[in-house]
Amino acid sequence: MVSVAEAERVILLQARDFGNEMISYDEALGRVLAEDILADRDLPPFNRVTMDGIAINYKAIQDGAGSFRIKSVQSAGEEPVEISANTECIEIMTGAVLPSTTDTVIPYEEINIQNGVATLNGGSVLINQNVHLQGKDKKQHEVLVEANQVITPVILAIAAAVGKTSILVKKNPTVIIISTGDELVDIGQTPTPFQIRRSNNYTLGAVLKQFAVDAAILHLADDPEVIDRELQRCLVAYDIILLSGGVSMGKFDFVPSSLEKLQVKKLFHKVGQRPGKPFWFGVHEHSTLVFAFPGNPVSTFMCFHRYFLPWLKTSWQLNIKPNYAILNEDFTFKPALQYFLQVKLTIDKNGHLLATPVEGNGSGDFANLLSADAFLELPLETTDFYKGTVFPVWPFKPFQQ
Ligand code: AMP
Ligand code: MG
Repeated sequence: MVSVAEAERVILLQARDFGNEMISYDEALGRVLAEDILADRDLPPFNRVTMDGIAINYKAIQDGAGSFRIKSVQSAGEEPVEISANTECIEIMTGAVLPSTTDTVIPYEEINIQNGVATLNGGSVLINQNVHLQGKDKKQHEVLVEANQVITPVILAIAAAVGKTSILVKKNPTVIIISTGDELVDIGQTPTPFQIRRSNNYTLGAVLKQFAVDAAILHLADDPEVIDRELQRCLVAYDIILLSGGVSMGKFDFVPSSLEKLQVKKLFHKVGQRPGKPFWFGVHEHSTLVFAFPGNPVSTFMCFHRYFLPWLKTSWQLNIKPNYAILNEDFTFKPALQYFLQVKLTIDKNGHLLATPVEGNGSGDFANLLSADAFLELPLETTDFYKGTVFPVWPFKPFQQ
């Protein structure tokens, strides 16, 4: 049996580079950016008017002028129209290029227009007001977005602004999620009184979808021949096999022996943790990695978040930082195992992230996951954990108050 820290170390040593691929802009949301996105021109690319109103030359204000003859109207997207004297102005719209003979924009709210003449109605005017100067945000060729981060809507906005119709992203590993167990039927089937419907594979598939990874799904009976045959096929066809069930001490837990028979090198079996103690991890000679999680839904879910997602993020070279939360109630856990406590997360009025235990009934109680937002990782060395102490936390839900 290995410790949680050792299991993590062994797994992260197996981080892989799956290469890059060019994909169309439309498919890029949620994928991992593999190139820096550069400014194709200054941002903004011209002196941009930021209010609807009139563009004037500030010298006129210094000379005491209070009204301006409107020479022309200029909308956004139009070539700029120049004034020929400082007694003139251009009626101009937000987003338009500021004419080079002008330097200041006075909004409609601060003028009255009559008979083609705009007259100031008393507000103060500052030079360059309501102008977003060319290159103020970024200069041409400057890096706007650095590689190695998940593509968000804001990144897509920037990519669109610089005209990237295709984007270089990290290739995803090919993944298959395999459930095992004779007692498990598919969602659409009616279980006998002795069976249940399987859910783990769909849960893991759904989390992967949130990371823009599509996974294949397969179910295997607890039959050693079927398990041998199908695992052999999957070891060739996929980069990653995520198994759930069949790795414990039961008479029908054939997964570890089958994997070893198929030349999957065991890197560890059993981790000193609860839930998820029977977790098995290994690597095939052709480099396929096998994460074989115990079948209890909370165990599978915890192991996936604690081990598989960090492996995936490390492989993608994402900058992963540990999260921490403050235990919000005293809690005791006596067994000599590292405990992953289900907690509800809230932010208090001082801005502290608080983790309140919502225990449930053990690793089979997957309905309890609905009440929790995260697993709080309680250290092995201690049995009594006190309110106010800070521990690492593994969130699995987008944060909700
Ligand atoms: P096992 O690890 O195969 O001994 O399974 C442990 C428990 O988890 C058993 O009660 C199984 O019925 C249950 N289980 C295993 N796989 C799944 C699954 N895919 N969906 C839901 N429950 C499962
Ligand atoms: Mg089983």
